[in-house]
Amino acid sequence: MDVKDKVAIVTGAGSGIGAALTRKLVASGARVTAVDLDEAGVAATIADLGDKADRVSGRTADVSNSEAIAELIEHTRTTFGPVDLYFANAGIIGPRDLGDSDEDWLRTIDVNTLAHVRAARLLVPEWLERGSGYFIATASAAGLLSQIGAAAYSTTKAAAVGFADWMSITYGDRGIGVSCLCPQGVNTAMLNQDSESGSVGARVVTGAGAVLEPDDVADIVLKAVNDEQFLILPHPEVGEYMARKANDRERWLRGMRRLQAKASGN
Ligand code: NAD
Repeated sequence: MDVKDKVAIVTGAGSGIGAALTRKLVASGARVTAVDLDEAGVAATIADLGDKADRVSGRTADVSNSEAIAELIEHTRTTFGPVDLYFANAGIIGPRDLGDSDEDWLRTIDVNTLAHVRAARLLVPEWLERGSGYFIATASAAGLLSQIGAAAYSTTKAAAVGFADWMSITYGDRGIGVSCLCPQGVNTAMLNQDSESGSVGARVVTGAGAVLEPDDVADIVLKAVNDEQFLILPHPEVGEYMARKANDRERWLRGMRRLQAKASGN
């Protein structure tokens, strides 16, 4: 889909990849509702746009909540017109291990997975009617390959990949485009705060390959959307790791356990 003159919603737009997607969409001629829990973050994203700021409408919302998403879609429709593209990008890391209750797990499932389902449930009927729409899920390489030291993140991102696959299979021949973004390390608050907390997962991610800049990732995403390409791998080596996992799961798991032991200093 050519994003010029299209209307988009970007979640998690107050920081990192979402802020970069907002900047690049606006630079490519789209109008954007930029959403985040963090009001100051959204304001900073918009302030960054200078004289193009009128192409963005900022909203503060929890995008895991269906009513909040419905309000965003309605707000976008009245401000810019019907939504053409939805970037389900907001994400959290959540429990690193089993935890001792469901609460934080359920929150991670809500934000990283169910938020995608809820947005799609609201948008797909009108996209089918119009014969056009585009859903972009920000999952992660963790959703394809798991992430050491990040139990809830790996699980919910794998579910986000599964949902994006299902969306593409179900609606891909009915006018709805779907892309699934699966980066490794990107230089954002999420990765940097995780690194500063001394997490093994962040150490593995930053040691595994290049840490990309959000603007470079956003460029790759918009090119993939333009080409209607499903799987977006800003780190191409992730494709190689996926092939190794598919070809010999036992060997791949042994390798991951070795990597974990090394990263943990065991
Ligand atoms: P970030 O922390 O810079 O941005 C995430 C934004 O999402 C924050 O501004 C946060 O306030 C917002 N957010 C969280 N929960 C929300 C909610 N319920 N409602 C509205 N906003 C909410 O991190 P980022 O790296 O830009 O993350 C963007 C996406 O990219 C996430 O889904 C993340 O899992 C994914 N990702 C990041 C990396 C990385 O290395 N940074 C790698 C792979 C995937």
